[in-house]
Amino acid sequence: MANPTLLILAGDGIGPEVMGQVTRVIDWFGAKRDLAFDVSHDLVGGAAYDAHGTPLHDDTMAKALEADAVLLGAVGGPKYDDLDFSVKPERGLLRLRKEMDLFSNLRPAQCFDALADFSSLKKELIAGLDIMIVRELTSGVYFGEPRGIIEEGNERVGINTQRYTESEIDRVARSAFELARRRGNKVCSMEKANVMESGILWREVVQKVHDTDYPGVELSHMYADNGAMQLVRAPKQFDVILTDNLFGDILSDCAAMLTGSLGMLPSASLGAPNADGRPKALYEPVHGSAPDITGQGKANPIACILSFAMALRYSFDEGEEATRLERAVEKVLADGARTADLMGPEGGTPISTTQMGDAILAALDNSL
Ligand code: NAD
Repeated sequence: MANPTLLILAGDGIGPEVMGQVTRVIDWFGAKRDLAFDVSHDLVGGAAYDAHGTPLHDDTMAKALEADAVLLGAVGGPKYDDLDFSVKPERGLLRLRKEMDLFSNLRPAQCFDALADFSSLKKELIAGLDIMIVRELTSGVYFGEPRGIIEEGNERVGINTQRYTESEIDRVARSAFELARRRGNKVCSMEKANVMESGILWREVVQKVHDTDYPGVELSHMYADNGAMQLVRAPKQFDVILTDNLFGDILSDCAAMLTGSLGMLPSASLGAPNADGRPKALYEPVHGSAPDITGQGKANPIACILSFAMALRYSFDEGEEATRLERAVEKVLADGARTADLMGPEGGTPISTTQMGDAILAALDNSL
């Protein structure tokens, strides 16, 4: 059988630095676990603009639609700040999300014991935390019409529209229930059904999808404002949180920060399944291109490496190998390896991006 295909879009700033370590990890799985991928590389963001005058060339878009999964580093940087909006590096990423129709954004918030002191919450509240936020990514108030700033009488009015169709809610709810089945089997759906009609419909459709096709998954509903409070009061009560685009934007950032550093946070964006059952998928760290540390060997590659672990689990059904990789990261951190962003008040000597890659590969070797 042909190897699965991976398209790597390393992007700008620290993107290529952290992706360099991911490439080593991919090679390790090919060499040591008989899990080889056909990997190709292309440009996105500022790098694509420099080469082609556009942040995503049509050929790259076509390759992304063909690939079994896309791994993305980061886009952007001060060099591109003054570009026209239509060719800004971020437009490349938005085009990928839109044309791949990636409606389900998965953001784990997982606390590695070795980093529990990094959280702004008490250690006992977050040690062992492992939650997943599923955010609807392609609809809702960021896309709804009408929108704009209009004149009304003698003043201006800013308008955005929260709009969800039943099918949009249905498909993202299914993705949350499927995910819950592979984890703790619990979904908490968050909206504002108390004050928003779109929230009432959201709640009805989620309940219906549950009752019809996922009755074995435990489902609860919560108003999103209460959800925000519960996330910082007792986050371990959650397994999968399902929510819309706007609330998900806020709740996922809040949950992510429970666990400490931006350099640790992976994400996945999934679309509808292809004929082979694999969803269209883009995996990327949550962080940006970090221009302040670019080229200095300081970037933490773990977020990007954990994004590849998500690809193993969600695109290639290699959950055990994903866990092997996550355990390797956990072991390295428990042994005290720290890039500069993970240095606590006790100080110490940070290791470089490559040294972190070395340590993770050594831990993978030891896992055999
Ligand atoms: P950023 O995430 O790039 O950096 C924020 C801070 O976190 C910086 O101090 C940076 O050094 C640090 N940091 C981030 N990732 C790190 C890592 N892996 N290891 C160690 N430290 C890390 O956010 P920003 O500074 O607001 O944005 C910089 C550029 O990135 C901008 O052009 C922005 O538009 C872009 N951006 C892109 C994405 C993306 O590609 N998905 C996301 C956010 C920001």
